[in-house]
Amino acid sequence: MAVDPSFVMYRLLAEQLGLPFVGVPLDAEFRLDLPAMLRAITEHQPAIVFLDWPNNPSGSLFPEADLVAIIQAAPGLVVVDEAYHAFSQTTFAGRLGQYPNLLLLRTLSKEGLAGLRLGMLAGPSAWIQELDKLRLPYNINILTQRSAAFYLQHSTVLNEQADILRAERDKMFKAIAAMNLPVWPSAANFLLFHTPGKAAQVYSGLKNAGILIKAFTGHPRLGDYLRVSVGKPAENSRFLSVLESLL
Ligand SMILES: *Cc1c(COP(=O)(O)O)cnc(C)c1O
Repeated sequence: MAVDPSFVMYRLLAEQLGLPFVGVPLDAEFRLDLPAMLRAITEHQPAIVFLDWPNNPSGSLFPEADLVAIIQAAPGLVVVDEAYHAFSQTTFAGRLGQYPNLLLLRTLSKEGLAGLRLGMLAGPSAWIQELDKLRLPYNINILTQRSAAFYLQHSTVLNEQADILRAERDKMFKAIAAMNLPVWPSAANFLLFHTPGKAAQVYSGLKNAGILIKAFTGHPRLGDYLRVSVGKPAENSRFLSVLESLL
């Protein structure tokens, strides 16, 4: 079970593994609908609930109390996916061990090291011991291990980069809103905005100008929405001026 929309891999992996997947719709403002989520948990008794915190693609940061209510109500595991924690500056790490069913996911993919393919899972040792039984031997290669050590030695550089991205995100939010496009407050390194009837035209106009963002063509709810990742300051201003010229 996950909210909908959320990170597409939750649904894809469940389907690939032949497991049923339940997506619980976010409300009209991409907020977590806690009563609907709790009802769905009672009805479907999910073995695993995935919560991306902040949510991809909306950037919303659901209230901590709602996550706690879900962890307490869930009959199985709840995985809080903190892929974007560098941009939200929030974490459930302090709650690890308080709940026997809480696991935490992190990745270096959104912190400037996407090509490394290194993620981490943390949780109560009873669960980690079970998951270790599924882990293949040598599943993290030595170059990745060395790169992770290098990352730890240089984490200040990446933290400074995240600081810049957060400041740029807030500037871009204001600039997109000033173009009268509905845009959602984001705790991640991207912004979701609404271009009613114009998503395809804006997407291809940007692409022709050499700017690739995310379209959700064919998505039942997000067909008219676009998502832009925050880049370097010069890239962001160029994006904003091309976007404005296309409206
Ligand atoms: C990008 C992303 C990930 C990262 O996946 P990797 O396989 O580590 O690159 C995980 N969760 C969410 C919500 C994401 O957006």
